[in-house]
Amino acid sequence: MAIIGKNIQEAIKFLEANEVIGLPTETVYGLAGNAFSTEAVTKIFEVKNRPTFDPLIVHTSSIERISDFVREIPVKAQLLAEKFMPGPLTLLLPKKENISDLVTSGLETVAVRIPNHPLALELLRNLDFPLAAPSANPFGYISPTSAQHVDNQLGMKIKYILNGGECAVGIESSIIGFNGDEIVVYRKGGLAIEDIESVVGKVQIQEYSSSNPQAPGMLKSHYAPRTKLIILNSEPEYRPFRIHNSKTAFLGFKDFQPNVPRENQLILSPTGDFREAAKNLFAYMRALDARGFDIIYAEFLPEMDLGRAINDRIRRAATQE
Ligand code: AMP
Ligand code: MG
Repeated sequence: MAIIGKNIQEAIKFLEANEVIGLPTETVYGLAGNAFSTEAVTKIFEVKNRPTFDPLIVHTSSIERISDFVREIPVKAQLLAEKFMPGPLTLLLPKKENISDLVTSGLETVAVRIPNHPLALELLRNLDFPLAAPSANPFGYISPTSAQHVDNQLGMKIKYILNGGECAVGIESSIIGFNGDEIVVYRKGGLAIEDIESVVGKVQIQEYSSSNPQAPGMLKSHYAPRTKLIILNSEPEYRPFRIHNSKTAFLGFKDFQPNVPRENQLILSPTGDFREAAKNLFAYMRALDARGFDIIYAEFLPEMDLGRAINDRIRRAATQE
């Protein structure tokens, strides 16, 4: 198992030796390494078992430092950066030579983010390189929102996890690209589309695909538990009696399901708060996944605010028949 601690100097020591560590952020925990080091970036892909066609997000501590590895920042990107960085926003920007093709999977743009987490920011300020970091889970499984989640799954393969407590946002960042005048949301995430549009006007939303490597994190099946997960309100032949059984679980938004034993149910936010629901989503999926149910039923949230990003995660966690 890895050492779980709060020692920035220790984290720096590993990173400077081209090792990878668990990194707390406000979205989910990352598996971080020196973005300028091929050795460190190669380790990230190996530890995570991530296919190299899935590029990494590069993390830095300030808007000024983005220019260390980005050629130019379009005006609308600058507006978004000033408003929402640090925060759950990732911008796709033209990369400089010091970012290798391995980090971007051969793309000319690099994904850039400033995490809004005090320990992550302190660490980044004390490094003279940015950190490449995907989520710290085995490829395809639910993203980690605590140091313990990281240790449970990757603890054998890494030496250190910086412990920043539970992630405050709990779902991945929103990923935005710029295509001439068009602004494209490639991944719905912790920053609501409504908030983005309040700054730059109407945006386009790119739906997920299983083949297009330009479509970030957009594999159809992702964030998935091992237990079969079925979306209740998308199943036309659903009959309540089918779920009346001790081996089924329910992951709900605000209300319990009358047909499932109470102790088999987790409710994301009894008051119907999207932020609370996002924060609980992955931890609750993990908790239900660990209990050996035959089926987890889940329901969609209203398709607004962070409900959109949460629904996207639930859709992809669902078992593909
Ligand atoms: P993760 O860090 O695991 O949340 O994954 C980050 C996501 O960002 C991946 O799914 C990538 O596909 C996406 N991404 C990173 N860099 C780029 C890029 N240059 N263009 C498009 N998508 C990107
Ligand atoms: Mg991921």
